[in-house]
Amino acid sequence: MPILSIVIPAYNEEKMILKAAYTISELLNKEKISAEILFVNDGSEDNTWKEIQRASQEIENVRGISLSRNFGKESAILAGLTHAKGDCCIVMDCDLQHPPETIIEMYRLWKDGYDIVEGFKKSRGKEGKIKTFFAKSFYRLINRVTGFDMSASSDFKLLDRKVVDAYLQLPERKVFFRALTFWLGFKSIGVEYEVQERTEGKTKWSYLSLIKYAITNITSFSTAPMQIITIIGVLFFIFSIVLGVQSLINFFSGRSLEGFTTVILLLLGIGSVLMMSLGIIGYYIAKIYEEVKRRPRYIVSEKTNDKDE
Ligand code: UDP
Ligand code: MG
Repeated sequence: MPILSIVIPAYNEEKMILKAAYTISELLNKEKISAEILFVNDGSEDNTWKEIQRASQEIENVRGISLSRNFGKESAILAGLTHAKGDCCIVMDCDLQHPPETIIEMYRLWKDGYDIVEGFKKSRGKEGKIKTFFAKSFYRLINRVTGFDMSASSDFKLLDRKVVDAYLQLPERKVFFRALTFWLGFKSIGVEYEVQERTEGKTKWSYLSLIKYAITNITSFSTAPMQIITIIGVLFFIFSIVLGVQSLINFFSGRSLEGFTTVILLLLGIGSVLMMSLGIIGYYIAKIYEEVKRRPRYIVSEKTNDKDE
């Protein structure tokens, strides 16, 4: 009988662990799907790890690993996929915003021979207007630079073992789980789901962290920002030729140049564009630096007692 691994990253989710574990395991028992539920404690500051240990004692097939500090959701997912033993893995959130019933649908599609089953959001749930606006713009940008339409995609996915293995072989440190499955290819299909309301705890995303997330993911997927600065450079060059010709004409026709404002504006303009360009290049260099350091993407500090380990 094939095994389904359910990987659940959890950061400060003490109130959700048992609820999620019971809800999911009851559902799987009812459907007679043999599965393991693997929680990844992403360096929580609350009792999340204690709750995971409790869940693993109370419920069969619940396991947990604990990371040494908060490494972020992407790394937690990676840690979970590395330790999952199943023939296919589903990654889902701890807060049950990804409806557990969809797991069954995904599992059936996997049995039908699909390697990746993507969860697509039917709507964005009850999210603020500003957040929706930014999310939409972010995905439009991502679509432009990568060619993948990910506007409705999420981290809620089923991956076949061979996809998981391919994913784990990727060497880069900063990954964008949502997009990489597009990049990996394989036979995939989508299922739609309705984003549920979070019942306990609160979202880990502040606006600042969302902006950082956007920048990291755009730059790790494309070099478009560098092309944009090249284009700005070309525009400035054309502009400078026009202005140069005009000044020369003025000079030879004997009109004196009253150019203080122009010079200041040009200096400021060129200066700031240069700074910005340097910043963007610097950002890519910093990424290269991060990557060449070859540090592990997460460190496991503890595991729940495992009979066969
Ligand atoms: N999460 C994590 N590490 C983090 C932040 C979040 O493992 O540093 C987990 C979190 O516990 C939850 C999932 O990622 O299971 C989604 O987080 P959240 O619900 O805050 O995001 P949202 O649903 O608001 O996008
Ligand atoms: Mg959530």
